[in-house]
Amino acid sequence: RELPGDTREGGPVRQVLHACYTKVSPSVEVTNPKLVSWSDSCAELLDLDPSEFDRADFAFLFSGATLLKGSLPYAQCYGGHQFGYWAGQLGDGRAITLGELLNTKGERWELQLKGAGKTPYSRSADGRAVLRSSIREFLCSEAMHFLRIPTTRALCLVTTGNSVVRDMFYDGNPKEEPGAVVCRVAQSFLRIGSFQIHAARTKEDLMIVQTLVDYVIHYHFPHLNRISEADEANSSTSSGKNKYLEWLIEVAERTAVLIAKWQGVGFTHGVLNTDNMSVLGLTIDYGPFGFLDAFDPKYTPNTTDLPGRRYCFANQPDIGLWNLMQLATTLKEANLISEEESEIGLNRYGERFMEEYKQLMSRKLGLKEYNRDLINKLLSNMAFDKVDYTNCFRALGNVKSSSDAVDEDLLKPIKGVLLETSKERKKAWIDWMKLYTQQVIFLVCFYCIHNLSPLIPMRLLFEGHISFPGFMMHV
Ligand code: AMP
Ligand code: MG
Ligand code: MG
Repeated sequence: RELPGDTREGGPVRQVLHACYTKVSPSVEVTNPKLVSWSDSCAELLDLDPSEFDRADFAFLFSGATLLKGSLPYAQCYGGHQFGYWAGQLGDGRAITLGELLNTKGERWELQLKGAGKTPYSRSADGRAVLRSSIREFLCSEAMHFLRIPTTRALCLVTTGNSVVRDMFYDGNPKEEPGAVVCRVAQSFLRIGSFQIHAARTKEDLMIVQTLVDYVIHYHFPHLNRISEADEANSSTSSGKNKYLEWLIEVAERTAVLIAKWQGVGFTHGVLNTDNMSVLGLTIDYGPFGFLDAFDPKYTPNTTDLPGRRYCFANQPDIGLWNLMQLATTLKEANLISEEESEIGLNRYGERFMEEYKQLMSRKLGLKEYNRDLINKLLSNMAFDKVDYTNCFRALGNVKSSSDAVDEDLLKPIKGVLLETSKERKKAWIDWMKLYTQQVIFLVCFYCIHNLSPLIPMRLLFEGHISFPGFMMHV
């Protein structure tokens, strides 16, 4: 149904009411599909033998040209706040879920083709994806997984043999680019916006919020159902817990851990709209994302986010909370949690974020204890001198700690990342190094006193032959 008054570009958006999804088959033109890249590790999740990648029909199946047996493809209906404003219905405009697969471990994995053609949610766009953006999604989601950051996975990347028109440089001259399809894999692609859309409509749709939360708890947070079942079985010792609040708390915690991990590796998502926030706490939707090179807290890879920089690197932790507030509002509107419960759930975000962030930054410096002053001074030095974020932490892994090192020697390990060498800046870094090496000496003493590594001669630690825990994170 088209809602009157919706005058977005491309005409009114056809509203899909009272539904979480629409059945739709892949429709992108595929004349000569070719398998370009694949992930054996992702195939393992699906119990897919790597020899299957050699099948003659593999590229046909994973470009959407041929349907997999048993597949009932659909596109999800969701809404979202884009750049802080409610944007109404969005939905899978170019992603089509093929179905779910239960592996031998009993895990449920959803397979989704991105770029497989238009859906009822495509609005004025073409439902396709180009090779360029598909390579980025394929590579980065697998890379994030191996950096131990929760993420949607990617099974394979197929080119269609057909071209897609894109205005890449916004110069008014659209260009033809190779079309491609990525098969994304996740336990669920439900987002905050998947819940919001139903609360934004009629009373009847509001009921769907509860149905959908019950669904996600049943399949993806089953331990929360066990709390309420135990309560029902034994009302005299009821825990008094509201499972919807417990769910909000867990989503908040997962989101907090996720964003702390992003900050650790310098990942900047770029489009943290509520429709791009997984309720499983996964990195989802690899669009204009980027990794920090020179440390700049205001860094954003998204040119449409200038000059506001809502989604810049340093804002990500706050945006995580803002997005969770929208989820909490939806749960309140559906009468699943109270105002007080909403606050409890949201408070958990900040606490969990700081726990994770402190631990992570301390490990990046090889320290047991979080030292706020030390980390803040390091980050401000890095920002001032535009030092490479990843390489700087890696270089600090080579610090040869010695209490009587002369000033210039202290800078040796980070020489390769320190481009600015004015006297004042050198002094700022030497001062920081003095603070840091004191901490490192303290740590080595701690290891010795506690007999943690009696066989490792201290010389080896000092020589940098052995990395402190956490230093290998970026390799
Ligand atoms: P994103 O900014 O990638 O999260 O996308 C926002 C919305 O636009 C989502 O509903 C997408 O499905 C939709 N969208 C993005 N690109 C396309 C496309 N090429 N064709 C159809 N819909 C798209
Ligand atoms: Mg998206
Ligand atoms: Mg996208």
